[in-house]
Amino acid sequence: MSETGSKPIYTIDAFEHGYQEEGKIFGTECSQCHHRQMTQVLLCPSCGSKALKQIELATTGKVRSFTVQNVPSDEFLNDAPYGYALVDLDDGTVVSGWLPEAKSEKDIQIGDKVQWKKSYKVGLIFEKVQ
Ligand SMILES: [Zn+2]
Repeated sequence: MSETGSKPIYTIDAFEHGYQEEGKIFGTECSQCHHRQMTQVLLCPSCGSKALKQIELATTGKVRSFTVQNVPSDEFLNDAPYGYALVDLDDGTVVSGWLPEAKSEKDIQIGDKVQWKKSYKVGLIFEKVQ
């Protein structure tokens, strides 16, 4: 018997449905140490426990750090330059994501409030909010 019981807790299908259809971002939280993350894992990267549960993550947060990308990945060929940031979500989860509107260092600052924006593109896309 697994620590999480017989019910699957976190599937790619559930994640994609939430992300694309419901406007929700799902992640996992460790029942032992309460570490939260968006990336799908089988073991908690903090304590190694298998006792993970699916949680809905906050969709707003603040920029912890950022860089402006001038050499884009294929998905963002038409968007470069753009910001790429570490974001502290309001629930304490740290995620990384794109800020297409940040065309230079003048357009983004550490501490800026951001909101996740649904998109057909890969990864989390954020926009600044006042
Ligand atoms: Zn843990």
